[in-house]
Amino acid sequence: MSKQWLMHFEEGNQSLAGLLGGKGANLAEMTRAGLAVPPGFTITTEACRAYYLESRLPGGLFREVREAMTVLEVRKGQRFGDAAAPLLVSVRSGSVTSMPGMMDTILNLGLNDETVQGLAAATNNPRFAYDCYRRLIQMFGTVVFGIEGAWFEKKLHALKEAHAAHSDQSVTAEAWQELIGTYKSLILKRAGTAFPQDVYEQLHMAVEAVFRSWNNSRAQIYRRLNGIPDEQGTAVNIQAMVFGNLNEASGTGVVFTRNPSTGEGVLFGEYLTNAQGEDVVAGVRTPQPIAGLQQDMPAIYEQLVAMAGLLEKHYRDMQDIEFTIENGTLYMLQTRSGKRTAQAAMRIAVELVRAGILTREEALMRVEPSHLDQLLHPSLDESAAPAALGTGLPASPGAACGQAVFTADEAQEQARSGKAVILVRTETTPEDIHGVLAARGVLTSRGGMTSHAAVVARGMGKPCVCGCEALVIHAKQRRAVIGGQTIAEGDWLTIDGATGRVMIGEVPLKEADMSAELLEMLQWADDVRGMKVYANADNPEDAAKARSFGAEGVGLCRTEHMFLSPQRLPIVQKMILADTEAVRAEALGELLPMQRSDFAAIFRAMAGLPVTIRLLDPPLHEFLPNLEDLLTRHAHLSAARKERAASTPETDESPGIPAAANSNERSSGPVIRSDVSRESIPAGGRQSPESDLELQQLEALIRKVRGLHEVNPMLGQRGCRLGILFPEIYGMQIEAIFAAVQDCIRDGIEVSPEIMIPLVGHANELRIMRELVDQVAQKMLGDNRNAVPYRVGTMIEVPRAALTAPQIAAHADFFSFGTNDLTQMTFGYSRDDAEGKFLTHYVDNKLLPDNPFQVLDRDGVGQLIDLAVTRARALKPKLKTGVCGEHGGDPKSIRLCREMGLDYVSCSPYRVPIARIAAAQAEIEAAEAEKNSLAEQQKIVS
Ligand code: PEP
Ligand code: MG
Repeated sequence: MSKQWLMHFEEGNQSLAGLLGGKGANLAEMTRAGLAVPPGFTITTEACRAYYLESRLPGGLFREVREAMTVLEVRKGQRFGDAAAPLLVSVRSGSVTSMPGMMDTILNLGLNDETVQGLAAATNNPRFAYDCYRRLIQMFGTVVFGIEGAWFEKKLHALKEAHAAHSDQSVTAEAWQELIGTYKSLILKRAGTAFPQDVYEQLHMAVEAVFRSWNNSRAQIYRRLNGIPDEQGTAVNIQAMVFGNLNEASGTGVVFTRNPSTGEGVLFGEYLTNAQGEDVVAGVRTPQPIAGLQQDMPAIYEQLVAMAGLLEKHYRDMQDIEFTIENGTLYMLQTRSGKRTAQAAMRIAVELVRAGILTREEALMRVEPSHLDQLLHPSLDESAAPAALGTGLPASPGAACGQAVFTADEAQEQARSGKAVILVRTETTPEDIHGVLAARGVLTSRGGMTSHAAVVARGMGKPCVCGCEALVIHAKQRRAVIGGQTIAEGDWLTIDGATGRVMIGEVPLKEADMSAELLEMLQWADDVRGMKVYANADNPEDAAKARSFGAEGVGLCRTEHMFLSPQRLPIVQKMILADTEAVRAEALGELLPMQRSDFAAIFRAMAGLPVTIRLLDPPLHEFLPNLEDLLTRHAHLSAARKERAASTPETDESPGIPAAANSNERSSGPVIRSDVSRESIPAGGRQSPESDLELQQLEALIRKVRGLHEVNPMLGQRGCRLGILFPEIYGMQIEAIFAAVQDCIRDGIEVSPEIMIPLVGHANELRIMRELVDQVAQKMLGDNRNAVPYRVGTMIEVPRAALTAPQIAAHADFFSFGTNDLTQMTFGYSRDDAEGKFLTHYVDNKLLPDNPFQVLDRDGVGQLIDLAVTRARALKPKLKTGVCGEHGGDPKSIRLCREMGLDYVSCSPYRVPIARIAAAQAEIEAAEAEKNSLAEQQKIVS
């Protein structure tokens, strides 16, 4: 009768992992390759899915299991449940994508009060037989009946104490028998039912329990973290037992074919003699380093080395192998690709290429972008690190220093003013996302490796220490205490997300070293990829860093970031608040040399590579003080003034706060102080004529801030709309660019400036702005204008711009898709608020496949980009196109960009190497797909 729900090992192979799970497929593959694998069979993932549909084992499955058991019986010359020669089996989970330790396993199944005696007689070793039986009852109790393991451990401990046994090995057969009785009573008491003596009942219950373990909470969390689909299900492997705990010529262990921490090509692992599988992982006895096996059992060691080499060659990857030695015979119980550190991953991939096992393309395809993330983050300069005041969980790699802040809003506000901050919270919630985003690192006193803070920080590649219990936070008082020291808001902190350490002060950080293997791999990537990789850099340091990581240009220099430094902000405010053209011109005149030297330094750092400078983009109110703070201060000054007026009646009346309605003029109000903040509010009522003047200035400022207020600032007076209304601002920036170009040319430095106009939605906007650029170029460069190869282009951030791409392209040398704003406007989701409100819910509940601000939305935003590129290129085939939103550093989005034929992606400096690899992977995949489709076509033709 044909089988529907299971497959014997010799019937399967590696390619059937979807059906047999990784473990089942590999056991099948090893069996077919002739390695010593105990016989067995695999119940498929399809049966698991059917189990979840029907809430019971699917019809016919158990009949097939019984038949398959008969085959095992013949092979082993034993019978399941036969007291004379009992067959024992293991029942193990095995998912398609490896989920180490997340699901359940039962060993020694088939033992009962009778067969245990048979096993004792057959092996002439009652101690061994009863040891196996007590292990089975314990595993069965925890896995099938869900009794906490601690109950069993307690009884075991008590038994050992009562018998003065220091180790499991010194427990006698009689003592094990006593424990078996205790365990059985424990099950009866806690589960309300007896441990089953019918071996097929055991098997039935065990298979069901393994299926159930697919949905235990740790497996669910692991799947969510690793993007493993819930509907995959697990397979169940039923395999004849071999016993590492039979005698001193037996043992069990785990080896990696290479060192998983460093990647060094030596066998790495541990083993225990006279022990069963779980002992190695459970830490009951300390395992020996695998090198010891060479002395203990030299012939077995030789065999193991040979098998490891064979398996690595066969699977063309570093393997993690479980083995058992039964009375001098070596068996393979499992092989899978071994988990490894980022550093090891690079070394292993490069060495496998050198050994001729992998091609360069295959090695590139194996690189996990998240691995690179770990390799590229700064780490602590250990020579300068003080003792940690507390340690939490190392939740997201990299070290970070910053000033402590206790709320997400504060983190955002401080970061906006250019400060490095560490967000310190008891735990984070989705509402804190903007704070996590703004902070250099995150520290929480509660929560584990899968807490919100940990998951989010890892997703962002941001250092994070979670669950630091030594930290007591008093958020209301804006302070925390750790190791007896108080951290107030603004105090410097350093966290190390790789080890979990928390230190007070600003500990120097070391930039990541790019290992020789990583550099080699990146070189291979560059040889393969077609798409260029630029960086988003707003200052010379970031530009230099980006170049050291291999950036081939600056794809976005956000010039507003140059306006935010404490020295410049007052001048910017003076420019915004200028009463007259003359005052504005004066302020712009002060800013120009600063911008000029910024631009020149970036040009120098990029040494002739393209530098895309975006003219001012955000709404002007972002440079002014917060209205609420101003009003608080006003209330304070007015109250004090009234108090003074009561004691000196001749004082003038306060002019009062101007109404919002009559404050709409474009440029009114005096030049003001910029340091209005809660801290500067005086404590009491002694006022002077100077404070009257301050009050008047404050009121003018309030009028101005209200005048600039917009209900929807992100859809308001920003981007090129500013340039059109205030051409003198863009004019100054353009002049600074060309002045910097001249400075560099004078010093013999090549430059390739690209001037980028933001937020264009209509071709006329770009036309006017381009005219402005050309006019200033003419003024600055005169007859030399044609000798400086500058380009003018635009960001495509508004859906209308994408839809009218050909008209806009008529005035553009390049398009840079600002996918942050384009996503915001296409979805109608606020990029500042959506994640903290509904978007996380959408993603968690699979309404959306991904967060569209992280992964480019193929169907909507992608379609707009594709359409814009295709239509614009029909008019201007050489139009340069790229992406400079956050998506430029996301591997999945990079693949889509390659597919749509973009010329470059631009991302933050630290993501440049990731983008280089991802661009190469996209190229390799595309070539592979083309090859396959050609082969397909040929098949059809022939
Ligand atoms: C964008 O919108 O994608 C972009 C790069 O600009 P910004 O993030 O500065 O708005
Ligand atoms: Mg934008």
